[in-house]
Amino acid sequence: MYAIEVEHLSVSYFETTALEDVSLNILSGQLVGIIGPNGAGKSTFIKALMALIPAQAEKITLLGQTIDATRTQIAYVPQRSVIDWDFPIRVLDAVLIGCYPKLGLFKRPNKHHRAFASACLERVGMSEFADRQIGELSGGQQQRVFLARALAQEAELLLLDEPFVGVDVVSERVIIDLLRTLRDEGKTIIVVHHDLSKTADYFDELLLLNKTAIAYGRPEEVLQADTIEGAYGNPLAFLKKAEVSS
Ligand code: ADP
Ligand code: MG
Repeated sequence: MYAIEVEHLSVSYFETTALEDVSLNILSGQLVGIIGPNGAGKSTFIKALMALIPAQAEKITLLGQTIDATRTQIAYVPQRSVIDWDFPIRVLDAVLIGCYPKLGLFKRPNKHHRAFASACLERVGMSEFADRQIGELSGGQQQRVFLARALAQEAELLLLDEPFVGVDVVSERVIIDLLRTLRDEGKTIIVVHHDLSKTADYFDELLLLNKTAIAYGRPEEVLQADTIEGAYGNPLAFLKKAEVSS
């Protein structure tokens, strides 16, 4: 069963072509990294999957259905820079929002939902921050709260846009461990990650994107000098980064 099927996807913003003829199928139950240089269209790809921007495609399915049928089973965490962190909301309430699709219209969360949201916060190691304002947290802590919300949603498919940017080492560990656990539970997780270091260690499969899908497969297949050069322009750029990370 495919978690994601994409056939001939193209996206343009006025005169800029951000994606051109992207086709690929992603099997469910995998932890997949999307890599590529700045401006490669990684965020655009995720937004097109979620139907948040206009796109042309012959086919896009998520969990075997169109996005309209399956949206509540998908957790999307946008890039940090586009989230309004000053929005006044308590940490536990931010997690509770994940329960809303299950609540139905006009129903309010009850104590069971609150207990479940607390348990999700516990899983990301953020219980002690339940009553804080979200704007008071560090970048890594905020990212963990968003992950707790995805847990509360019991999403089958998670789309995370650069979750490790501006994140402390402890949070990065907590996040990657949790993503692996979720993968082992059968969820599909797609992570945009512009930094090539650690990709081979973190992900089951990689999509190398630069306007189009340059390579998709196991990290050792995708992280070849010629494919990297095709996307980044310079294979040494990758080698330098890989050295720094080890
Ligand atoms: P990435 O996430 O890989 O850095 P993006 O998907 O954000 O890349 O952007 C892909 C291309 O589309 C870039 O050239 C970017 O400048 C352009 N782009 C992205 N969003 C918009 C927008 N809202 N309006 C116009 N151009 C955009
Ligand atoms: Mg981006």
